[in-house]
Amino acid sequence: MIPAQFDYARAKTLDEALNLLAQNEDAKILAGGHSLIPALKLRLMQPPLLVDISRIKDLAYVREEDQQILIGAATTHYQIESSELLQRICPLLPECAAHIGDVQVRNKGTIGGSVAHSDPAGDWPAAMISLNAAMVAVSKHGERTIKADDFFVDLLTTALEPGEILRELRIPKPNGVAQAYVKMPHPASGFAVVGVAANLSMNGDAKCGNASIGITGVSAKAYRASAVETALNGATLTDESISSASSHAADEVDINGDLFASETYRRHLATVYTRRAIAAASERA
Ligand SMILES: Cc1cc2nc3c(=O)[nH]c(=O)nc-3n(C[C@H](O)[C@H](O)[C@H](O)COP(=O)(O)OP(=O)(O)OC[C@H]3O[C@@H](n4cnc5c(N)ncnc54)[C@H](O)[C@@H]3O)c2cc1C
Repeated sequence: MIPAQFDYARAKTLDEALNLLAQNEDAKILAGGHSLIPALKLRLMQPPLLVDISRIKDLAYVREEDQQILIGAATTHYQIESSELLQRICPLLPECAAHIGDVQVRNKGTIGGSVAHSDPAGDWPAAMISLNAAMVAVSKHGERTIKADDFFVDLLTTALEPGEILRELRIPKPNGVAQAYVKMPHPASGFAVVGVAANLSMNGDAKCGNASIGITGVSAKAYRASAVETALNGATLTDESISSASSHAADEVDINGDLFASETYRRHLATVYTRRAIAAASERA
């Protein structure tokens, strides 16, 4: 439980952090440390240098700009949970934040650290996919934007390249969209055994115009439940149509099995929690 030796540098600006990363391609960014420090202690990672970005004030913000919500990568889960702006324009975000860990984790952990870590049981990846978010990555060579659908590549693997820092998350403002995030937390860690983010655009006649559903906890990485979305689009939402659509929650997905939840149990949970998320969102429409 003692990490291998490493150097530590606290960056005051994003430029300083990028320079440090450019000089040492094996360096790791330190944000809230709630995933990185345990990984170091277990010696799953042994970086020679940690570049601490947690004091860069310009990286922690929640803003509304034109038709987008902009969130700085170093914004903590608690800052999102307690944002009145987000409660008003995208309640899924505070609802998801409130499900993460405990008070200590939410006070230190950041949204950028969570998505950059791509934990298979992390809550934010499902929300980001369902909200069609875009991730803004910056390096010494410039800036690029990566869609959430392309960002989560595999277990603990994202599309970020060495030398890149996730700077901002951009979310299209979900005007008139009914949302819900539901989760079965692991009783010991609080991480998602299954977590489902649902966004529904309803037509006046109780028909679903567009559904966007992200699921975490079930597979090596969070994913879009495309078959559920297809089944919901154009459907009148009833208990039967919601149940039928939700039965596709784990279609074409390699399902995780572990000591707590077997593959069969997780498939069942994916179906149940998808049904709950859609039902909760439709009640809010
Ligand atoms: C007891 C406990 C319970 C938890 N429960 C939950 C839970 O229920 N749900 C949940 O989703 N999470 C949970 N977490 C994880 C928590 O949300 C972490 O905060 C999060 O996973 C990582 O964010 P961080 O800011 O701590 O990142 P760090 O641990 O500092 O970094 C994580 C990884 O991301 C990289 N990184 C960080 N920021 C950036 C950036 N801006 N650009 C590029 N790379 C970056 C780091 O180099 C590192 O590889 C829990 C953690 C603990 C300790």
